[in-house]
Amino acid sequence: MEFQLFLGGSFRDGVAVRDVRVPYDGTVFARVHIGDAAMVGEAVAAARKGLIVMRGLTRARRAEILLEVRRRLLEDSERMAVAIASECGKPLREAQLEVSRGAGTLLFSAQEALALAGEEVPVDASAHGAGRMGMVIREPLGVIGAITPFNFPLNLSLHKIGPALAGGNAVVHKPASATPVSALLLASYFAEAGLPEGALNVVPGPGAELGEALARHPDVAMITFTGSPEVGVRLREIAGLKRVTLELGSNSAVIVEADADLDVAVPLCVSGAFAHSGQVCISVQRIFVHSSLFGEFVERMAAGAGALRQGPPVEEATQVSSLINEGEAVRVASWIDEAVGAGARLVTGGEREGTRMRPAVLTDVPAAAKLLAKEAFGPVAGVNRFGDLDEAIGMVNDSDYGLQASIFTRDIGKAFRAAREVEVGGFMINDVPQFRADQMPYGGVKLSGTGREGPHYAIEEMTERKLIIWRV
Ligand code: NDP
Repeated sequence: MEFQLFLGGSFRDGVAVRDVRVPYDGTVFARVHIGDAAMVGEAVAAARKGLIVMRGLTRARRAEILLEVRRRLLEDSERMAVAIASECGKPLREAQLEVSRGAGTLLFSAQEALALAGEEVPVDASAHGAGRMGMVIREPLGVIGAITPFNFPLNLSLHKIGPALAGGNAVVHKPASATPVSALLLASYFAEAGLPEGALNVVPGPGAELGEALARHPDVAMITFTGSPEVGVRLREIAGLKRVTLELGSNSAVIVEADADLDVAVPLCVSGAFAHSGQVCISVQRIFVHSSLFGEFVERMAAGAGALRQGPPVEEATQVSSLINEGEAVRVASWIDEAVGAGARLVTGGEREGTRMRPAVLTDVPAAAKLLAKEAFGPVAGVNRFGDLDEAIGMVNDSDYGLQASIFTRDIGKAFRAAREVEVGGFMINDVPQFRADQMPYGGVKLSGTGREGPHYAIEEMTERKLIIWRV
């Protein structure tokens, strides 16, 4: 299968063609045209034209287009799920879930298009405002540059494209190099659904060249980025006065209190740590367990991890597939070695063969080991013990990141104390931090980023408030 890039409303050749491989076994799954910095310039010019049409569309029409794309996505869901599973190495069942979540993101975006509204400003609340009326209207921001990572190639793209189009903007999308196919399939649904030419452009290609060209372009009004903190910080440095939203990584933590129900906590921690081989920004990475439950928790967690079936991503039975590339697998393996060298105990997993790695559970990991201190983005969970809740909260907060965290406890007082004291963007009680529903406000503090996604919140960032005063 060969996919052209999408620019100015049509599919066309790029400057080169690249193979897209299944990370599990390296087989070529598709060939994709890529662009360069000059093509980003062309895409921005096309988006500026598309923007003029988008601004004139009624809210009803924008919502209609988004709902038509949703319908086409659901109709084509099997092909899309196979594309996602193949290019990012995610088990098919998780890819199917991503498709259905993507359909939800489109629905919530359409609802935001319909509900987008300003407000009246009570100008005569100031004496000198007498005889005037004021209103705020919400206008599109302009051309939005969307840069997305490999791990949720459909849904994280939709979290940017959906609200941007709902708000009447035009988009230039730079998908991750490993996963351009789902983005181009999505573009085909938009084209078929009647989206104005140039309102969406998809240009795959090397991030450092294309991403930076987008961030520097004077006609781009906003960069919305999901990816690693290093790239996010760099983009903010070069974006100048553009609006910038950054959804970055984390080393998400879970507290398992003495009164936790392990029948609930353990299975959720297993799936929360090892879904998509831990390549999820809110993957469970650090688990702090009350010392009274520690032995039992570790035994059950290790058994759960050891039982996960590994295999090719497109097989129905597969629960764990591979990392995105061998370099990433080698990095995660070296972090396990470093932690073990510093005194951690490897209870299960960690064996590596090429891109594949068995889910690993370690205990007694020193807080300074990379495996805890940095974002692992791999199939690893470090389990440490604590004595009281203050100590556990301190351990969770001892992190450069703050995306989501959680606690398992039956004590509502403890649950809400932790919810208030843990420094994160989102906190879950009796669930794992890996939970995300697409309409909720989602984003982090500290190195985990700035701004919130979820269509209702993203459209705030993607529209400008304009004040109109009328002297009556
Ligand atoms: P990267 O930061 O490596 O890449 C993300 C995107 O940025 C890709 O499209 C990439 O292109 C592009 N890019 C790379 N270098 C530059 C650059 N210098 N300037 C502009 N763009 C650039 O992240 P990954 O794809 O590896 O994704 C993993 C990261 O994403 C993890 O840190 C994870 O936590 C984070 N993430 C955060 C989420 C959140 O919502 N908070 C959700 C999911 C993931 P190319 O592929 O061509 O290199």
